[in-house]
Amino acid sequence: MAFALPPLPYDYAALEPHIDARTMEIHHTKHHQGYVNNLNAALEKAPAFQSKSLDEIVGNLSAIPENVRTAVRNNAGGHWNHSMFWVIMSPKGGGDPGGDVAKAISASFGALATFKEQFNAAASGRFGSGWAWLVATGDKLSIESTPNQDNPAMDGRHAILGVDVWEHAYYLKYQNRRADYLAAWWNLVNWHEVAKRFDARPKR
Ligand code: MN
Repeated sequence: MAFALPPLPYDYAALEPHIDARTMEIHHTKHHQGYVNNLNAALEKAPAFQSKSLDEIVGNLSAIPENVRTAVRNNAGGHWNHSMFWVIMSPKGGGDPGGDVAKAISASFGALATFKEQFNAAASGRFGSGWAWLVATGDKLSIESTPNQDNPAMDGRHAILGVDVWEHAYYLKYQNRRADYLAAWWNLVNWHEVAKRFDARPKR
């Protein structure tokens, strides 16, 4: 069973004005589809892994045959990252988190504004292409950033929020102004989905 592009849970124009429809359409139908296609192509050379779940593949890259491991890392990572990215955004997003994840943010960072500042710094500071993440380790939250399509799950850690800072995510509307994209992106964060991921964290 080959991997498939998941449909977006909203229209391409639904995240405007923060992310424009053209960017969303290209990002989903070209970039994300490309990761899916390239992952399927790579796994044709490692057929024992075709029946594995995406989580199993991303969480155990050292098991992948060396001749396709880089291709699988990049493209399984791309598929995993974007599958998460679409659902942690919503046209009805933004505002403040609630519940346990809000408490964890306060306990780990002091205040929501402080967390956002530190997260923006990690996302802005990622040189070239990559992602910034909010990772849950038990009740403790931490901020990380990864290059390319790497992610915390590759090291066995549990990400509950991530932002794509590849230029393809923002260039049409924001050009070189990554900080403006990030400022707008907070208006889309689907805290309900982030809370669900926090609640599903491995308990330690
Ligand atoms: Mn992307």
